[in-house]
Amino acid sequence: MINLKQYTWWFIVGSQDLYGEETLRQVADHARIMADALNADPVIPGTVVLKPVGKSAEGIRKLFEEANAASECAGIITWMHTFSPSKMWIGGLGINTKPLLHLHTQFNRDIPWASIDMDFMNLNQSAHGDREHGYLYARMRLPRKVIAGFWQDPEVRRRIAVWMRAAAARLDGIHSTVLRLGDNMREVAVTEGDKVEAQIKFGWQVNTWGIGDLAERFQRVNPEETERRITAYESAYELAPELRNSGKARSALLEQVKIEIALSAMLEAEHAGAFTTTFQDLHGLPQLPGLACQRLMEQGYGFGAEGDWKQAMLVRAAKVMASGLPRGVSFMEDYTYHFEPHREAALGAHMLEVCPSIAGGKPRIEVHPLGIGGKADPARLVFDAAPGPAVLATLVDLGDRFRMILNAIETIPIEQSMPKLPVARALWKPYPTMRDAAESWIIAGGGHHSVYTSALTAAYFQDWAEMMGIEVVLIDKGTTPARLRDELRWSEAYWSGR
Ligand code: MN
Repeated sequence: MINLKQYTWWFIVGSQDLYGEETLRQVADHARIMADALNADPVIPGTVVLKPVGKSAEGIRKLFEEANAASECAGIITWMHTFSPSKMWIGGLGINTKPLLHLHTQFNRDIPWASIDMDFMNLNQSAHGDREHGYLYARMRLPRKVIAGFWQDPEVRRRIAVWMRAAAARLDGIHSTVLRLGDNMREVAVTEGDKVEAQIKFGWQVNTWGIGDLAERFQRVNPEETERRITAYESAYELAPELRNSGKARSALLEQVKIEIALSAMLEAEHAGAFTTTFQDLHGLPQLPGLACQRLMEQGYGFGAEGDWKQAMLVRAAKVMASGLPRGVSFMEDYTYHFEPHREAALGAHMLEVCPSIAGGKPRIEVHPLGIGGKADPARLVFDAAPGPAVLATLVDLGDRFRMILNAIETIPIEQSMPKLPVARALWKPYPTMRDAAESWIIAGGGHHSVYTSALTAAYFQDWAEMMGIEVVLIDKGTTPARLRDELRWSEAYWSGR
């Protein structure tokens, strides 16, 4: 359901008429070689579209007008091969609505020591042409990403791809809806938020449907389709014995399959990219959607429990950014700590709804009672998250703005068995330490719900936040809570003036 190939990123190379036809022809040739090479690299997620060399105010403005109108254009990459006087760029950049990447590179890797002359210098002068260009971005206070380095360097390519994926998530959001089944959980503060502001900032339409709409679809699900779907489950997951054909809990599994089918059809009908549920509003459904939410997340939908639409939106954005990458993305909740000295760790889980894309082994479907909600025993996928580096991201509404909080973590193997905790779970050590990470997260106002991803680094979320014009707080190896407290105070001054 997520296809990054549908997006384009426009590559606009700057120059001017001063250098003559021969130089401009070489600039265009080099740009073509670079665009082709980027498109041939599997790390680049979509298509780089080379545009004519920008060499006049009128031509540059026209390129940006066309980009604004191009619905598949996710972003614009600019690079000044030669010196391109920046007053020519004011008109174009002034009307631009797309995310910008200023790629600061050079066609030649090495200085040709023996043959270098002033012709070579005039052709390969991005070292100063890009400074003129960068000044204008700074002068106009334009949000943009700057990536410096040789364009063939795999690390430069990787960073370009990170930015591209963030831009794809932004464009996906502009065309998406968060389908809320019911409101957020009663009395809870952190899952509240300004839905109008969310649409202005992120493009997401955050709207509510009654649970009755889903219950009605649930009643109408075709039994044959349910049986067909279960066959897919049997190959992808291990089934507890009582769930196999004629097992005593088989009907609980069938109910979740029916919820998945009904919810999936509803999401498609409403063009939704994400959804929320709440255990306080399940009238007409036999169980809290557990397995169904896990399966839909696995297919690429964003999800937030207890009506948490901000995290549903962020899960979807992360799913888009991670599309085609190894490892996964899930909705997550900080649950319980392990305070044993030198082995401190946090146990993350949810009642049911954790995405199997983050699993370390083959997930197992089980049916167990749920402590809250007062409904039938729900089926769910049970697994441990794969060990390795991961990131937690959460979005909170501070009243005058959105803040995203990130924490770099290391997921570790769960060595003890937890026979009485049949849910999907992840055990991690947050950076810099559990104490400083927890204090920093709490100081910044981060909630208990987050996006957990082993497929992405903090850089993806930082690029996305820059495009969205929202505050981002990173907690990682270099963070100290005292310093962070000061930074948040300075940040308050910055954001309150916007
Ligand atoms: Mn929760």
